[in-house]
Amino acid sequence: MSTAAPEAPARTVPFEFFDVHVVRARRLGPTMLRVTLGGEPLRRLSAGGRDQRIKLFLPQAGQQAPLVPTDAGEAWFTVWRSMDPSVRGIMRSYTVREQRRVPQDELDIDFVLHGVGDPADADSAGFVAAGPASRWAATARPGDRVTILGPTVEDNGGVDFRPPAGTDWVLISGDETALPAVAGILGWLPPGMPAKVWIEVPHAEDIQELTTVADADITWLVRDNTTEHRTEFHRASIASAQLPEGTPYAWIAGEAGTVKTLRRHLVGERGFDRKRVTFTGYWRQDTTEEQLVEEAVSGAAAATAGSE
Ligand SMILES: Cc1cc2nc3c(=O)[nH]c(=O)nc-3n(C[C@H](O)[C@H](O)[C@H](O)COP(=O)(O)OP(=O)(O)OC[C@H]3O[C@@H](n4cnc5c(N)ncnc54)[C@H](O)[C@@H]3O)c2cc1C
Repeated sequence: MSTAAPEAPARTVPFEFFDVHVVRARRLGPTMLRVTLGGEPLRRLSAGGRDQRIKLFLPQAGQQAPLVPTDAGEAWFTVWRSMDPSVRGIMRSYTVREQRRVPQDELDIDFVLHGVGDPADADSAGFVAAGPASRWAATARPGDRVTILGPTVEDNGGVDFRPPAGTDWVLISGDETALPAVAGILGWLPPGMPAKVWIEVPHAEDIQELTTVADADITWLVRDNTTEHRTEFHRASIASAQLPEGTPYAWIAGEAGTVKTLRRHLVGERGFDRKRVTFTGYWRQDTTEEQLVEEAVSGAAAATAGSE
């Protein structure tokens, strides 16, 4: 699995910190909320489209703005990790849904409101898994301040959707957290490119109108319509599909366990070349992003120790 997801990108060129504020927030459906960010610094941000990822830093309760070591240069991640977790800015990964230059510099992020005030999400013990980012978005108001770590050039390492030369068609699969990325990818694909697309959402009202000039065949997997586990629901739909002829490129993102199963299906059962499959766990069941970051850091440390 790609480990780029939970790890913080280095603050090397072309990534920089941007202090921005909420301009407006708008519900897109029962699950998603679009937060539009603005501010003069956004003039220097240059998103690469597709699945452009950024880091978002959110304030802790009672803070006006997140505390981020923006002056620490290349050492920012080490400094941030050494700060009190209850004081430092809360770091999360998100996708640039859209960047606009006119009438003013703005950036849209579409948040999944997981667990926010939805008793249907409670587990058998009555626990509702909401995270700080989901909660922040649900109450975001114009003027609220956040910091972004984002790119200053369009061609940057935060874009993963990169079909190799010789790709005849693409397979795209994601859940609601990957929907902003899937929308960006579909908007980027060239005219007529065959695309088989699977998008998993909780409710029928979460289905969005997606714009593309590609030859896209989109299957919406609405979890309300099944009693199956999300992973099997998704896998079975792809497994039963007739796929186009020619050389494919696949991009898969969403819940880590589901992503792993889908990748195994494509490589193991459908004969996809593993080098032509980009797969990223966007979140993991019962695990916060802090835990994923710490896992990635200790994994990297163990790998370094093992190679000596
Ligand atoms: C490259 C990348 C791009 C991403 N882009 C987006 C995006 O554009 N929009 C978006 O909404 N998310 C996106 N995500 C996923 C998002 O970062 C995670 O869902 C993140 O955990 C949310 O933070 P939180 O503070 O709300 O929850 P956390 O504090 O991280 O987690 C709290 C609990 O909630 C659970 N949880 C986390 N996310 C979900 C979920 N979606 N559904 C159900 N339970 C969940 C966790 O397992 C945990 O138990 C992206 C992730 C990556 C790596």
